[in-house]
Amino acid sequence: MKCPICNKGELKKGKIKETMFGVYLGEFPAVVCTKCRESFTDSATTKKIEAAAKEKGVWGLSAKTKITQTGNSLAVRIPKKIADYLKLKNSEEVTIYPENNKLVVEAEPVKA
Ligand SMILES: [Zn+2]
Repeated sequence: MKCPICNKGELKKGKIKETMFGVYLGEFPAVVCTKCRESFTDSATTKKIEAAAKEKGVWGLSAKTKITQTGNSLAVRIPKKIADYLKLKNSEEVTIYPENNKLVVEAEPVKA
């Protein structure tokens, strides 16, 4: 079967290592393109990946938020579910820096 993304590679059965927000979810069966490495999973596997993400507490952690002005600075509101996940508390000191078009807010590593 030809790859629908690059139209050059072949789709071969294999395994993919799935991560979400840097958290390893496990290995899952998929068909992987021999050229562009794009992978495709069936709906049953997609559900298993979703279940693994929920189990690890990383499902649905991405969220839209608005920048607000406070004095001369700008503030980013961190939604409760992300704050809870990272165990961030009010007045806690974090390090922020740009990374390409991202804003990285570095907290202490999450305790297992
Ligand atoms: Zn491809």
